[in-house]
Amino acid sequence: MGYPSFGTALAGERLLVNYLIPPAAPANALVFRAVGNGSQYQRYYVLQDADWNVMVELAAIYHAIGNLYTWDMMSDMRIAVGQLWQESNTFNPLPTTRADFEHFGIVHGPELVERMADTNELGGFIQSLRRWPERPEIVGLVRLPAWPSGAATSDTFAWIRQEMTTALRRALPVDAVLLALHGALVAEQTPDVEGEVLHAFRAIIGPSVPLVATLDLHANITERMVRAADALVLYHTVPHIDVFETGQRGAAVLRRILVDGVQPVTAFLKLPLVVPAERANTQDPASVSHALRRQLQVLESRPGILSAGLATVQPWLDIPELGSSVVVVAEGDNEIAAKTCEEIAAEVWRRRREYLPELVSVADGVRAAHENKEGLVVLSDSADATTSGATGDSTAVLSELLKYDWPRPALVTLVDADGVEMAQRLGIGAEITTELGGKRFPIPSRTGGMGRCLPLRVTAQIQHLFEARFLLSGHLARNMPIDMGLSAVLRCGQVHIVVTSRSGPHFAPQLFQTAGLDPFAASVLVAKSPCGFRAAYEPRARKILVVRAPGCAPSDFWNYPYRLIPRPIWPWDELETWTRAPVIVS
Ligand SMILES: [Zn+2]
Repeated sequence: MGYPSFGTALAGERLLVNYLIPPAAPANALVFRAVGNGSQYQRYYVLQDADWNVMVELAAIYHAIGNLYTWDMMSDMRIAVGQLWQESNTFNPLPTTRADFEHFGIVHGPELVERMADTNELGGFIQSLRRWPERPEIVGLVRLPAWPSGAATSDTFAWIRQEMTTALRRALPVDAVLLALHGALVAEQTPDVEGEVLHAFRAIIGPSVPLVATLDLHANITERMVRAADALVLYHTVPHIDVFETGQRGAAVLRRILVDGVQPVTAFLKLPLVVPAERANTQDPASVSHALRRQLQVLESRPGILSAGLATVQPWLDIPELGSSVVVVAEGDNEIAAKTCEEIAAEVWRRRREYLPELVSVADGVRAAHENKEGLVVLSDSADATTSGATGDSTAVLSELLKYDWPRPALVTLVDADGVEMAQRLGIGAEITTELGGKRFPIPSRTGGMGRCLPLRVTAQIQHLFEARFLLSGHLARNMPIDMGLSAVLRCGQVHIVVTSRSGPHFAPQLFQTAGLDPFAASVLVAKSPCGFRAAYEPRARKILVVRAPGCAPSDFWNYPYRLIPRPIWPWDELETWTRAPVIVS
């Protein structure tokens, strides 16, 4: 074969040996890639039917005649990593805004790689990529995180898209992209934010650059997301204790595609089904979730399967494409992907009633906690769960706790910036009388009837003022920085009310510890979380009860009027059977 012409290579281009398959290259091609010095473009020179030795020889010749400025036998693989993380709740009337992301902590570029190297999915990506023999350059895009709350405003969505796509364009050229997404971020006019972002990324990088995204198990996966990504990789656990590991799994899937050259094929099946979160504990051997987790993990460990996931979705989303999903990504085998996807979906459907929770009234739950003399009782106030995007300022359980004398501390949390400000003005040791909570849900409900709590008049002693800043590990996170702002502990007898300025993990032992309280020595502790709190408390609690209280994340969500969801859908509608074939995307 003759030497190919590199006549169009420009002075200043670096011509690099690249064993990646570029856009539109024949499958057996070897490739030189020219990268402009300091500029953001790349071009490919394809040597068809050549082998490595021929390429080395050619590179040496072109180096000798001065057509190559530098050349490097090492891969100059560049992999971009980024994150967009927020779970929305469309029943929370407080919109998510740009300020919520800025408060939580945005990082860009090299700072992302430096600061997030041991945190969450990004840490999983970064640590995995650092172990690749190709020593890829890890290019930080941007991390946009916000705590769960109401739907994002349209302006916020426009800003998110701009931030994400600008970061990607600046990073070009890249050989692949790894994105850590939640999958249930909803904006006012855009119910599928992640679908839009993935689609925008695909438009920028073109059809051949691999794009792998990780998702929370409560993602609302859409066909648009599936079509834009090469592979989706989901958490396998509730409580979410595999966040970092999901990042590692995402990187491993990317490696199979990018380095080993496998062709991913995704089978995606949307079930007409949404299940409550309370019993979806994948770590409880008696639960249906445990069996399904095992099934998914066994499947994923099989040769030929890149990823297998079940997303049981965030239920408090009144959007047109709401539903649980099964996603199986196989190595080039449509039939295996489709068959396994259908099997898992059938199993979820068959066992769906096992997800229905047992709830007790607030009065019964608090009474049971009081009757328990030794050890800790945890009451899950799931309807006000800040991890589910609720407002976190319900006083329903607090008002019941105040009716009893407790032998040891009773711990409860509230989001109330005004209450904190007043406590700060009065100072530690002073008595405070104020209306606490019940302010962040100012209208009865967008859909009516979901219930709200009124502010509760409380007289208490200001025991402590503190900054609610800590690293969250366990459910949801590994080493995730949390800052809920200035906070206060107000004390009425043994009832300790931890009041924060901003929402956050209102279940975390670290929150109580930062407040100077011992969560495990309490009589009763109210966790504003439907299931994730179990990772921290189940091993040490004497009893756990889930109470039925008002709030924007009720367990029995199907008793509330959703306007936009697809019907029929279980459990709003009593469906016995359904037939739907997986969508296959290759
Ligand atoms: Zn989740």
